[in-house]
Amino acid sequence: MPPPTPIFGAVEAGGTKFACAVGRGPGAGILARTQFATGRDPSRVLAQVVEWLRAQESSHGALAAIGVALFGPVDLDERSPTHGFITTTPKPGWRGTDVLGAFRRAFPGRPVGFDTDVNGAALGEWRWGAARGIDDFVYVTVGTGIGGGAMVRGQLVHGLVHPEMGHIPMPPIDGDVFPGACAIHGRCWEGLCAGPAIALRAGRPADELAADDPAWDLTMRAMGQALATLTLVLSPRRIVVGGSVRKAGRLGEAAFFRGVRAHLREALAGYVASPALRDPGIDGFVVPPELGDDAGVCGAFVLAEQAAGDARRRMS
Ligand code: ZN
Repeated sequence: MPPPTPIFGAVEAGGTKFACAVGRGPGAGILARTQFATGRDPSRVLAQVVEWLRAQESSHGALAAIGVALFGPVDLDERSPTHGFITTTPKPGWRGTDVLGAFRRAFPGRPVGFDTDVNGAALGEWRWGAARGIDDFVYVTVGTGIGGGAMVRGQLVHGLVHPEMGHIPMPPIDGDVFPGACAIHGRCWEGLCAGPAIALRAGRPADELAADDPAWDLTMRAMGQALATLTLVLSPRRIVVGGSVRKAGRLGEAAFFRGVRAHLREALAGYVASPALRDPGIDGFVVPPELGDDAGVCGAFVLAEQAAGDARRRMS
């Protein structure tokens, strides 16, 4: 008899909710799923997640590994004493929380794959979504904040800590006096284009803005500038833009992407020579995610699978 196909635990630990699933991947691969509010008490939600995963083990069998895609900033340095901790988050109650340790202690000896939530979402889109077959791409999420994960030659970029694309400084826009909404930098990308920044600029939530509200064009212009920076630095073959802002309320997702692509081309000014950045190639260069809001939890499955593979290689 062949060995049974392993099943995994997947946890996307976001700033507002912990999305949990058990199985092998999206769609029919998910055997069970649930979610818990992140809240202000890490020990409470972590205990809820662990208890749920254990309950799934009793109905579906042992989890071969667990993947956790965690909101940040996160310490990803395996040699650091605080590896797997949330570091400088402004989120009440969460600073200094040992999230990786909580799963390792609850499931001793079980491989736990671990990365940022955006790197997780990038992995999900790479394996099953809009970046299938592309080993050089960027996934960005533009929602209540902005974060990004970059894959270069099939490997996610880590390095010193992890990329903090949402906080790249932004060039001025003629006639725009908005000081930006980032508590740390003012006019960084997140300070101009995240949902709260659009609301602060326009005086009401993005969802309530008319399609021709000037805030939309300024947002798309800043998006184009930021994606130009990513294009120039990382030379991705595709940029996947997820998060709630891309749905763009009354403007609509299609018009938002058209605007962002046009401003990206304007910002690059023809300098990067690739058909991917001209018409109609650019329509496939900046794209929405295919897994939608499931990218993160799907990526957590990939993290689990990779951790199981690493553990097997260490043993052989
Ligand atoms: Zn910032």
